[in-house]
Amino acid sequence: MDGTFNENDLSRVVEADRAHIWHHLIQHKPFETNDPRIIVEGKGMRVWDQKGKEHLDAVSGGVWTVNVGYGRESICKAVYDQLMKLCYFANTAGSIPGSNFAEMLIDKMPGMSRVYYTNSGSEANEKAFKMIRQIAHKKYGGKKTKILYRDRDYHGSTLATMSAGGQDERTAQYGPFAPDFVRVPHCMEYRKHELDGAPEENFGEWAANQIEEVILREGPDTVGALCLEPVTAGGGVIEAPEGYWPRVQEICKKYDVLLHIDEVVCGVGRTGTWFGYQQYGIKPDFVTMAKGVASGYAAIACMVTTEEVFDMFKDDASDPMSYFRDISTFGGCTAGPAAAVENMRIIQDENLLQNCVDMGDRMMGNLQALMEKHKVIGDVRGKGLFLGAELVADRGSKEPVDEKQAQAVVADCMAQGVIIGVTNRSIPSRNNTLCFSPALIATADDIDQITDAVDGALGRVFG
Ligand code: PMP
Repeated sequence: MDGTFNENDLSRVVEADRAHIWHHLIQHKPFETNDPRIIVEGKGMRVWDQKGKEHLDAVSGGVWTVNVGYGRESICKAVYDQLMKLCYFANTAGSIPGSNFAEMLIDKMPGMSRVYYTNSGSEANEKAFKMIRQIAHKKYGGKKTKILYRDRDYHGSTLATMSAGGQDERTAQYGPFAPDFVRVPHCMEYRKHELDGAPEENFGEWAANQIEEVILREGPDTVGALCLEPVTAGGGVIEAPEGYWPRVQEICKKYDVLLHIDEVVCGVGRTGTWFGYQQYGIKPDFVTMAKGVASGYAAIACMVTTEEVFDMFKDDASDPMSYFRDISTFGGCTAGPAAAVENMRIIQDENLLQNCVDMGDRMMGNLQALMEKHKVIGDVRGKGLFLGAELVADRGSKEPVDEKQAQAVVADCMAQGVIIGVTNRSIPSRNNTLCFSPALIATADDIDQITDAVDGALGRVFG
């Protein structure tokens, strides 16, 4: 064994995978009898596995990432050229692609001004958390260290981001967590019956007011920031109801609470605007992004903030505690911003934001039609090409289907050559939501192929 594999030797790849790879997010028991799946190649919206089987990828690389599709030569070339010129230098110095991408990005984010490069979404969120804590020390004498996060939201896999984790099934085994992270209730209209006192009317405003309640309970002088996803992803594809965001913004202003928007999934086109928050007229203080920034062609994430925040960290050059004393080694990789520049140019030149809106509308229409046909679909929701269909055993009680049934729908689609996703929440409340996030290049035929596969799968699994 020389440790290298080629496509003609894929059975060896499978063996090595089974022997040595610890896959993300899944249990390994089934690999004792089934082969792990190896994805060998991708082109456009499609990928091929080790058996040569073609799949239409309705989830952009599994987790909302490959926004411009596979096999983009211009991105690969930009990365190659940049690596030949300069592969890396720590971000204590600048780089040409670092500056180029920052300029392009800030142009799309009025009100924002500074880009801090990192290498994962979790890490980008940690940087914002650290800045928020440092501001608490610098500006508020060690008060205002608390960071609010929302039930059902997700911000990453590290201990601090899990401390801000609103999905208990992902965190239950990993405590104890960092102090001063405080949960606020979710804003999911479809499951508002799970919230004490939620009204029939004006739920959005009520849900935002719950944040104010938490601030008042904790003490406004202790709360430094509020961290939210613009559209909640893994928690079940949840768009906040009308009335929510304007109140959130008012509350943050009233209590001097910084607003940190996690765009790791929504960022760079997924909802049909460059950023999800731009759908709702919000003015954040921190924005974090990762997955779609370079569509997975290189690892890149970043935290973006305002000049006002930046200014707080340069007030006294002689004070060694005054600046942001932080580094991310691979934040200095140049492949990431080189790929990100080209990724953003493709989205612009190919008018993919508009395609995202148009194809998102088509997919939403198709899912609504499926909802009429299959009573197991209790709700369809989302924005742009970021959609979900929640499965329930009973529409009245909204009792979720068994998780295994939801997985069976995914497996049936897979057998038909269409990869879809599912989020299964198990504690404290349960729900199963099928997830769709095809690349922004999807055509009407692709969208119809995805929803036809779901139609067939629901018929077979639920009769
Ligand atoms: N925030 C959100 C909303 C996410 O969905 C994710 C990843 N699924 C993260 C943060 C963490 O990103 P990463 O896996 O790159 O650390």
